[in-house]
Amino acid sequence: MVKADNLRRARISVRGVVQGVGFRPFVYQLAHKNNLAGWVCNTSEAVKIEVEGSRINLGRFWRELQDNAPPLAHIEDISRTYLALAGDKGFEIRRSLAEAGKYQLVSPDIATCQDCRKEIFDPEDRRYRYPFTNCTNCGPRFTIIKDIPYDRPLTTMHSFQMCPECQAEYDDPGDRRFHAQPNACPRCGPLLQLIDNQGNHIASDEAITVAGELLRSGKILAIKGLGGFLLACDATSESPVSLLRQRKRRRFKPLAIMVSNLDQARNYCEIAENEAALLTSPQSPIVLLRWKPATGICQSVAPGLGYLGVMLPYTPAPSSA
Ligand SMILES: [Zn+2]
Ligand SMILES: [Zn+2]
Repeated sequence: MVKADNLRRARISVRGVVQGVGFRPFVYQLAHKNNLAGWVCNTSEAVKIEVEGSRINLGRFWRELQDNAPPLAHIEDISRTYLALAGDKGFEIRRSLAEAGKYQLVSPDIATCQDCRKEIFDPEDRRYRYPFTNCTNCGPRFTIIKDIPYDRPLTTMHSFQMCPECQAEYDDPGDRRFHAQPNACPRCGPLLQLIDNQGNHIASDEAITVAGELLRSGKILAIKGLGGFLLACDATSESPVSLLRQRKRRRFKPLAIMVSNLDQARNYCEIAENEAALLTSPQSPIVLLRWKPATGICQSVAPGLGYLGVMLPYTPAPSSA
């Protein structure tokens, strides 16, 4: 039992990149760990928290909130005031609150994490080869958000009703998909579709395999992914690269290549340790790397340049092709 004069209640407001990065589940778990009652809520302006418990636990919560925040969170501003005790029982994640005219930072899209990658390649997993696999630590954010606060009804995922299994993950505080807004699986989420330039359906389940064959046969594909469309063709073959340049009216602007992993990237470029870290980071950027001569990538990908823009797959790539 904690004596009443030892109890305190604090209201905490956190601003920055704190929505869509697993912040509410983190707060929820931290409150439970420190035996605090109260609630957490996303608003258009901030993540708002009220916690009640012993002074010591409250102090610990305050420190850990800042020191152990999820890796993708970026706290810009945090404030705390004290309130009268309210005597809540337990800790809850409250329904988000929209406030007109208020805004907060939106998380960027985040490259597929290692845990999700494992699932995609595990034939026993229910998300085996599912190209829209994501979790609290990875997946689309900025691309799917239509408004804040960041909640499924305000994203492009609102039309996909979660199946019971996905819903159970979403509701389980111990699950990596607890409150993961784009949570989906082959049963309930979006699926792939490959269409030709007349809009005719070509493939669904085998869309990636067929797309790979088309690329190898010299075709140019528009791949709808996070952030927009990628125009893709075989970078080792001169004619599709030239055709792409002609159609885009880009005679010299360098193009970037995507390779399946770091080892493959090393076939084409010199990669220092810090460059490898950048390539495999959650931001998964295009990194400019020193181009090795005569490796099979056409010169016209980056005419006259000694550096090549390289990126790794940043969304689930269920085929090793
Ligand atoms: Zn993940
Ligand atoms: Zn599902």
